[in-house]
Amino acid sequence: MTSSPPVRPLHPLAERDLRVVWHPCTQMKDHEWLPLTPIERGEGVWLYGYDGRRYLDAISSWWVNLFGHANPRINAAITAQLGKLEHVILAGFTHEPAVQLAEKLTRLAPPGLTRCFYADNGSSAIEVALKMSFHYWRNQGRSRKKRFITLSNSYHGETLGALAVGHVELYREIYQPLLMDVMIAASPDAYARDAGETAEDCARRAIVTMNELLAQHADETCAVIVEPLVQCAAGMRMHAPLYLQLLRETCDRHGVHLIADEIAVGFGRTGTLFACEQAGITPDFIALSKGLTGGYLPLSVVLTNDDVYSAFYDEYTRQRAFLHSHSYTGNALACAAALATLDIFASDGVIERNRGLAAHLGRRACELLGDLEHVAEVRQCGMIVAAELARGADRTRPFDWRERRGLRVYRHGLEHEALLRPIGNVVYFMPPYVITPDEIDALMLTARDGIVAATCD
Ligand SMILES: *Cc1c(COP(=O)(O)O)cnc(C)c1O
Repeated sequence: MTSSPPVRPLHPLAERDLRVVWHPCTQMKDHEWLPLTPIERGEGVWLYGYDGRRYLDAISSWWVNLFGHANPRINAAITAQLGKLEHVILAGFTHEPAVQLAEKLTRLAPPGLTRCFYADNGSSAIEVALKMSFHYWRNQGRSRKKRFITLSNSYHGETLGALAVGHVELYREIYQPLLMDVMIAASPDAYARDAGETAEDCARRAIVTMNELLAQHADETCAVIVEPLVQCAAGMRMHAPLYLQLLRETCDRHGVHLIADEIAVGFGRTGTLFACEQAGITPDFIALSKGLTGGYLPLSVVLTNDDVYSAFYDEYTRQRAFLHSHSYTGNALACAAALATLDIFASDGVIERNRGLAAHLGRRACELLGDLEHVAEVRQCGMIVAAELARGADRTRPFDWRERRGLRVYRHGLEHEALLRPIGNVVYFMPPYVITPDEIDALMLTARDGIVAATCD
């Protein structure tokens, strides 16, 4: 089925592309039969092709877009900044957008996170947090601390350090020989619950293995890294906020940092501005990117506390400074886009308004997908909804990944005005916050038909 020829002739741009571009996260040979989709322009939740077709961006272009494509307010902010300063070195120099953004983020973030270190993409932010944690302990004379603990199914990016602390086999298996040795603790993933168990039970069960690891290895461990509430790349696997409370407690008890990777879940995705808020915890490091600029420009930031900052603050010759940098650190255009994004949150009451939207999204997903023969679960966390496909809706019988059921849903979506990009057997919705209830309804009907067609044999 997946090897049937394309129904439409290839657009000239797609042809030119395939001669010179190597695409991310793609087996390029697939494009012998899977047409590439050239996009001419975007507006709101819609992406427009050259052929008059349009696609509802149900995945916010890889989880980055918050307020739609070509958002007039973000466009205006970038344009205004462009007339003044596009970029300047951030070592020894500074600029208004970088300072203002740090002021705002430190006010909005969980209490105690008082310092912003900028980078230019999510993976780099993870590298910064890992290196900072390690270096902090070294500066304290704790040079035995050089390992990290991560959770099974976690994803933190693609650079070697970020990949090492990830645990999605698909992404890391090949590169294993290049990766630092990391300890893996059980995920609190509530989809893996046993009969009769609640999400809180999963959280308590998972923290037991974390406690065991820390009891044995705390003296050589720098930090535990976690994606709060939703392990997105693992297929939108969700856990109870209780886990984060228990994790904060055990990290404190054992003298180990807690790194919260809110690159995907930050900026309202889980229903609160930051996911950590739902557990009432402050991590030692929080990494932000993706939605930070509303999906416009690459920018990331790591926020940390006074204790960490002051461990690096010393005479130059004592060699305690954090000498990490990226060329585009704190780019002025990206910071301007981020400021405009935060302005929209504040002036439009976005978190509040999203509650109604999320309720509609969840309700329609349950109504239209929950009863399908091969949907094992519909789950939700704020503006993220996912339907997990399994044979006969039996969680113990996932479809073989080689069958590429999700890809069939993707192709069905493209034929029906939707950009859905399932992760394996998980069809999910992570739309821009400007989607309307009517658009949600149409999207769900498309997903329903797509899932039925993808699971009919
Ligand atoms: C996307 C993502 C990253 C990596 O960000 P990039 O900008 O793609 O490097 C890291 N962690 C999480 C949780 C992510 O979803």
